[in-house]
Amino acid sequence: MMNGLGAGIGMTSDRTRSRMVERLRAAGIRDERVLSAIEGVPRHLFVDEAIANRAYEDSALPIGWGQFISAPYIVARMMELLCAGTHLRKVLEVGTGCGYQAVVLSRIVQEVYSVERLGQLLTKTRSRLWNLKITNLRLKHGDGRLGLPEAAPFDGIIVAAAAPVIPQALLDQLSPEGRLVIPVGQDNHQQLTVVERRDGEWTTSTVEAVRFVPLLEETS
Ligand code: SAH
Repeated sequence: MMNGLGAGIGMTSDRTRSRMVERLRAAGIRDERVLSAIEGVPRHLFVDEAIANRAYEDSALPIGWGQFISAPYIVARMMELLCAGTHLRKVLEVGTGCGYQAVVLSRIVQEVYSVERLGQLLTKTRSRLWNLKITNLRLKHGDGRLGLPEAAPFDGIIVAAAAPVIPQALLDQLSPEGRLVIPVGQDNHQQLTVVERRDGEWTTSTVEAVRFVPLLEETS
């Protein structure tokens, strides 16, 4: 699945990545599939070289256009909530950004779709991913608040930007047992929220306070 990732990566980054995974474990991440997927993806390849030495700190990092790659803990936490111990066949990510989370997802989910509203950022991300030769990840330019009707329904949907209200299209595109993980709220009042669909009903629970960039309207 991931032919290109081994190339050109020194021992140093392998070791720092293992240490990062140990920190995630200590912080309470339990899903071994998520931990090993994170261990397998060199996060430093997803940020500019000037800040690559900070790639294994537990912090968000700038990726241009005013956007940020989420901190490793929050990526791990959201993926753990999304998977909830089950196997997901098809997942939609809203907010591709630099592609890091999409690539981590592609290691544990059969089919991953990711939508990004910023065309230039997506172009940069596409060329980065090209070298990694990932065959089960599809990137789309568009407004992720509308989901991706042509590929729906999804076993899981994960949103990497905060929505003032949960977009109805995302709820509608969940498969019968599907789960949506999304930060809900504005500025510094955001709650990581999980919505589970069962028997045509949606059950919502909040998990913890988070801080994400806003889910915006319109593409550019
Ligand atoms: N998962 C990303 C995190 C990116 S930050 C990573 O691993 O790097 C959130 C991203 O959501 C930004 O790139 C932003 O441009 C994008 N975004 C914001 N509103 C959006 C929308 N309505 N549709 C699609 N993407 C959106």
